[in-house]
Amino acid sequence: MRHNKIKVTVGKPTGFCSGVKRAIALVKQQAQQAKNGTSVYTLGPIIHNSEVVAELKQLGVKTITNIKELKPIANSKSIVIIRTHGCAPEVIAKIKKLGYKVIDATCPYVRRVQNYALKFKKDGYTTIVVGDKNHPEVKGIMGYAKPLAKICDINSKSQTLNPKSISNRIGIIGQTTIPFEYFQKAINSFSVGDYQEIRIFNTLCKEALNRQKICKKIADKVDSMIVIGSRTSANTRHLADIAKTSNAHVHQVQDKSELRLDWRSNLQRIGVVAGTSTPQSTVFEVVKQIKKISRPRGSYAHG
Ligand code: SF4
Repeated sequence: MRHNKIKVTVGKPTGFCSGVKRAIALVKQQAQQAKNGTSVYTLGPIIHNSEVVAELKQLGVKTITNIKELKPIANSKSIVIIRTHGCAPEVIAKIKKLGYKVIDATCPYVRRVQNYALKFKKDGYTTIVVGDKNHPEVKGIMGYAKPLAKICDINSKSQTLNPKSISNRIGIIGQTTIPFEYFQKAINSFSVGDYQEIRIFNTLCKEALNRQKICKKIADKVDSMIVIGSRTSANTRHLADIAKTSNAHVHQVQDKSELRLDWRSNLQRIGVVAGTSTPQSTVFEVVKQIKKISRPRGSYAHG
């Protein structure tokens, strides 16, 4: 069978974002420094990537999903690491009360959102958090913003809130990795409300936004898009959603094993983008595999 010549355009940057790199480095450092009798835990998988979590497990790092899994200890030697998404302050207080040392790997971009939530609370505003109500980052931010806080859920069709449940002065912030259009839609819906004052802080992460822009640019030009990253990664899912707005052939894969030969039939230009928790090595492997299945006449270019 003769294949069409395939051109692959990779949207840069790929590999880990700064927040993920920092968190992994912190976990490795703690694991290497841990002495006998010291356990190192992460609250939730440190990133949405099973290979990295498995590598850290080899270093002795244990993943817990809930602090109920921690037994009270007396020595304060064992460590719990908070991942990039952050968590509510009361969770950190509970971990400390159980006798553990807390190492905070919350991404600085997420910390910024938490700080704005605290500021709104102090100044008497109702905080509106635009994001996915089930995402750990949003739950953590709510921990800083409540009791005067509401979630404007991006998964709800109307993306509006009952004005009667909100005070006259509102402060709007967003989950770091949501697409800008979602944030804008929420701002528009509040701007027509009868509020005395609205304050807005654009808290979206520049690194995630940059990947979204590049994704859209490539998706507009190619026949098919491959989005690489875990299905549990919010920013990877957003990349796939953005690509789908202008491309009818979008496939999300976690690694090269999920590529299928029939996706490329009659397609000549393939775009590749990756989420911020996808290792560079996984991107290389996927691109290599695309080239392999397009032989003998494949070519490869960076975009
Ligand atoms: S995507 Fe942005 S906010 Fe999320 S961990 Fe990376 S740098 Fe931080």
